[in-house]
Amino acid sequence: MSIPTIIIAEDEDALATLLQYNLEKEGYRVLIAGDGEEALMVIDEQKPDILLLDWMLPKVSGIEVCRRLRQKTETRNLPILMLTARGEESDRIRGLDTGADDYVVKPFSMTELMARIRAVLRRIRPGLADDRLSHGDIIVDRVAHRVKRQGREVHLGPTEFRLLDHLIQHPGRVFSREQLLDAVWGSDVYVEARTVDVHIGRLRKALNNATEVDPIRTVRSAGYSLDMEA
Ligand code: CA
Repeated sequence: MSIPTIIIAEDEDALATLLQYNLEKEGYRVLIAGDGEEALMVIDEQKPDILLLDWMLPKVSGIEVCRRLRQKTETRNLPILMLTARGEESDRIRGLDTGADDYVVKPFSMTELMARIRAVLRRIRPGLADDRLSHGDIIVDRVAHRVKRQGREVHLGPTEFRLLDHLIQHPGRVFSREQLLDAVWGSDVYVEARTVDVHIGRLRKALNNATEVDPIRTVRSAGYSLDMEA
């Protein structure tokens, strides 16, 4: 996917700047709006992929921004991550009622926020909307959490399932161990890169019987891809 654009609607300049710095470091494109009215305008013009929405905003409040975005077809599905102050429990509930997708409570850690944003991005990746994905003779049923190859049931552990699920969304694309760690384990978890090799090994063992082509390609010093043609 192309570089995701995140809009920060936050009237505390210091926090907005800190968020911008951290998000840009992670490779996102960042837009900033200092009040609710500006946020709505920028969203309309720039069509960002995610909105980080402070609840207490001048001009148009966070809850009102949320409500208006949900009313419009073009922004009905824009992922909204609320930033709320500690203790504002009723705001959080109202926010989720109004259509926010998730919230973080201030003060939050950047690690936590980044993990939430990544989770949202995983949800909005187009492939993720499909219930069944297939590549070659492999079928992943993402609702039932079942995998079949040539019609036979393949039994996978939860990590192997997530690995395959990630790879099958982007057939042919090579992922580094670090990218797979981020996507499958989450980057807030510390796992050694070679753990990926262990789970790829298990995934292969489960997927392939003696006569079948190994669908997972090892790309030396680069990573892995799911690639039947290779
Ligand atoms: Ca505020």
